[in-house]
Amino acid sequence: MKTRLIFLLPLLWVLTGCSDSESSDTATLKVSETSFKNISANGETITVNIQSNHKWNISSNNSWCTTDITSGENNGKIRIEVNKNSEAYARAATITVETDGQQEKVSVIQNGKQLSVEEIENHHYKIPVVFQVLYKDPNNTTQNMRASRASDLIVACNKYYQNLLESASVDMNLEFVLATRDPEGNILQEAGINRTQINEATMDCEKFMENKDNLKYLWDTDRYINIMLYTFSNENILGISHLPYTIAPDKLDGLNQLDFLPEHSNLTYPHCVSINNKYIYSSASIENRTYNSVDVIPTIAHELGHYLGLFHAFSEPENKETGINTCIDSDYCDDTPTYDRDAYITWMSDYIISKNGITNMSQSEFNKLFERLDCVSETVSIPNNIMDYDISWLNRFTNDQRNRVRHMLARGVLIPGPKETRVSTRATGPQNFPMRMIK
Ligand SMILES: [Zn+2]
Repeated sequence: MKTRLIFLLPLLWVLTGCSDSESSDTATLKVSETSFKNISANGETITVNIQSNHKWNISSNNSWCTTDITSGENNGKIRIEVNKNSEAYARAATITVETDGQQEKVSVIQNGKQLSVEEIENHHYKIPVVFQVLYKDPNNTTQNMRASRASDLIVACNKYYQNLLESASVDMNLEFVLATRDPEGNILQEAGINRTQINEATMDCEKFMENKDNLKYLWDTDRYINIMLYTFSNENILGISHLPYTIAPDKLDGLNQLDFLPEHSNLTYPHCVSINNKYIYSSASIENRTYNSVDVIPTIAHELGHYLGLFHAFSEPENKETGINTCIDSDYCDDTPTYDRDAYITWMSDYIISKNGITNMSQSEFNKLFERLDCVSETVSIPNNIMDYDISWLNRFTNDQRNRVRHMLARGVLIPGPKETRVSTRATGPQNFPMRMIK
């Protein structure tokens, strides 16, 4: 027995010695910079220093952004080659440096190709959209929307924006596309969907829209339109959106003008659209003109209209406090009908009571609910504008609305897609700016 013990002692010493030397030689890893923004669309070479005491490996998640070496040891330098971007949209890649149990990431965001003013005027915008699915119960498909629904909704919504419904609408030369990559440049498992489990079963949508804490759900507003899906505690509200800004000297009637650039990273609230998921599967057949008062598809189209700078088609009181409607053109579009919505609501309520409720109405009595009295021309019109409310066909935009949307696509901020002026060349400034939301 003794002999065996003596034999084991040096081995124990070796083992202990080994582990001692490892703990004093823990792998260290540090990169000199972790984030590169506004890389030129023409391509650039970036240099990053690596500080380490071990071997390391490098990988990229996008083939247009590569490194001169894929492995190294101890301190070193890597060159990141960013290829030319031939698309007019910004893109992102992530370089990952790994060593024994440690990882550092280098984020690279490249600008889209700059287009001329004329090219922008004719550009067919393809705006990436991400549905931020905020659910409590993973098995509840109203909260945790089925993946196929995202594409159904976007396909249907695009029909309004591209005049594909034969509703004498206009073609905005714009389509919404489901995002295919996340903000770091990784391919999304489900196009246009990012799922996050939350603790709340319901949330007040107005409070949600102004709460800085909810920035954690927001993807880069220069590259995505975020559509937040959750259950509103205000259950009769279908959707809500923020209005965009113009940046001086640019202006557009009715919108707040800022003299600085509200960068995504400086936002103090989640600039987005919110949709009440209670109605997420609720849609009428838009081709067959069946009517559904809580149809989610015109709701999304309507909220995206606000996000892109449109106001309600009807006349809203100039002075919110008095509430007196003076029939002003409050949407700054001459070709949308102007009617006093409050007067309509009063008439509608009385009319429905007089007919013992909507369900007891004949078809012709019901059809009268679609009539509006234009308060300028005093003629009756049938409302069909997406930016209308209540009982309306909600299936068309007008030329003036198209002009406003095209203006914001080309010059707005916090809206993805090619711009007349490169966003990065504008001054950034103080971050207290007026947030405006609209339902
Ligand atoms: Zn609205």
